[in-house]
Amino acid sequence: MNTFTLDDIKVAGWLKEANYVAGNWVGADDGSTYDVEDPATGTRVGTIPWVSGAETGRAIDAAQEAFLTWSMTTAAERAEKLQRMAQLVRDNLDILATMLTLEQGKPLAEARGEMKLGADYIQWFAEEARRINGEIIPSPWKDRQILVTREPVGVVGAISPWNFPFSMLSRKVAPALAAGCTIVIKPSEFTPYSGLLYAVLAERAGIPAGVVNVVTGDGAAVGGELTRNPLVRKITFTGSTRVGKLLYKQSADSMKKLSMELGGNAPTIVFDDADLNLAVETAVAGKFRNSGQTCVCTNRFYVQDRIYEEFARRLTDRVKKLKVDNGLKEGAEQGPLINLAAVEKVESQVEDAKAKGGRVLLGGKRHELGATFYEPTVIADATPEMLIAREETFGPVAALFRFKEEYEAVEAANATEFGLAAYFYTRDLARIFRVSRAIQSGMIGINAGVITTAEAPFGGVKDSGLGREGSAHGIEEYLNLKYLSLAGL
Ligand code: NAD
Repeated sequence: MNTFTLDDIKVAGWLKEANYVAGNWVGADDGSTYDVEDPATGTRVGTIPWVSGAETGRAIDAAQEAFLTWSMTTAAERAEKLQRMAQLVRDNLDILATMLTLEQGKPLAEARGEMKLGADYIQWFAEEARRINGEIIPSPWKDRQILVTREPVGVVGAISPWNFPFSMLSRKVAPALAAGCTIVIKPSEFTPYSGLLYAVLAERAGIPAGVVNVVTGDGAAVGGELTRNPLVRKITFTGSTRVGKLLYKQSADSMKKLSMELGGNAPTIVFDDADLNLAVETAVAGKFRNSGQTCVCTNRFYVQDRIYEEFARRLTDRVKKLKVDNGLKEGAEQGPLINLAAVEKVESQVEDAKAKGGRVLLGGKRHELGATFYEPTVIADATPEMLIAREETFGPVAALFRFKEEYEAVEAANATEFGLAAYFYTRDLARIFRVSRAIQSGMIGINAGVITTAEAPFGGVKDSGLGREGSAHGIEEYLNLKYLSLAGL
């Protein structure tokens, strides 16, 4: 992998410290700014505008104006522009991955993987643009034909989180543009550059002014305007369940279409007939990716009685080998958490588990590398009374619960208000179908720990949200059906 400095990234024009509205790079009306910090070192990466409702309103107006022409382009034109965006990402993978690591902290290898996944989603929806087909339905009237067309919903407001700041937006921006919609993006204040990157990519790919707009700033103010403004016809949000519910309520008055990719509390069940080597290897990848800051990463391991101690021992041995370091360092596998608040949340869950009888097999405290680093941790003898059983941890902590019978594990797995991802390990085919049917979750990994791909529908049930991203279903979220009743034939 080629190495780059912050200056290289700025000189190459990938890191922009301005907002992008109607094809212009602009600041906040009152000149307000916000410093973005490298989570590994606390040093300043750059400064971004801190805007609120007025600037957001103008971005929405620009998107509305651009919608009139962008929605009339051919699918082939839109596909071609999206292909160019995807290619730009692929051609600049290393430098873009470095920018992502600088603001987010994840190891470079993971950042590269995220950029590549983002390019995959963009490519996927570039291809889907040409498959937005209509329907002709057999008519009950002799003289009529029933036609159904699919039309872009209009201006889209997209709000995204800091844990996958590039790839989470790729599955919003690309299907929106492919469908003929225009968009106003509000990236997380912690990782704005990977969101502003969509403006750079749009500009370089020759996408007309106003089709992609990016504003950075106050979540409540920008989100308030995006949800209030009747010109915005769809809100697509990835983030916490708390904010998702707020946006859902705020969008009610103007009856917007909604996609909500919210929090998770994923269970992993390890049955006693599982391939333990496979379970340990893939579960570690699923749990400790992005230092455990992944909406689909396991929060609760349910391990069957007979193999409990053996699994705990092997998992601990494997986790011990994870290399904790600044994500920019060669060979780093565990970077910092996003900020101190994230470390404090992990700490409070671990302390609570210890106080309630949890056995710390590994880690259990901050890492000597710095305030935002936490040691990869394994806790045995976890119980349902612990915070870690109920709340999303979003950190590098594996909590092991014990069970005896299959039904107990399924009941425990479902005992949460969330339902995003779940995983289980077994070699029994009948059990695979039985347990898959019983688990309340939008996605299930069976003998697999990492399951995200552009080809599959990503999304949850219960408090984990609504709508699906990726796959052929992902574009439907940006389309309205229109029925034409054609009489007098
Ligand atoms: P968050 O909800 O705090 O923030 C997400 C975004 O919402 C940010 O851009 C933030 O600025 C904005 N925001 C905050 N308050 C707002 C308000 N009042 N109105 C409008 N916007 C507001 O979430 P986060 O901490 O950035 O991300 C972590 C969360 O995201 C976790 O719960 C994780 O599970 C979830 N997540 C879900 C998925 C998924 O696909 N289901 C993927 C990644 C992350």
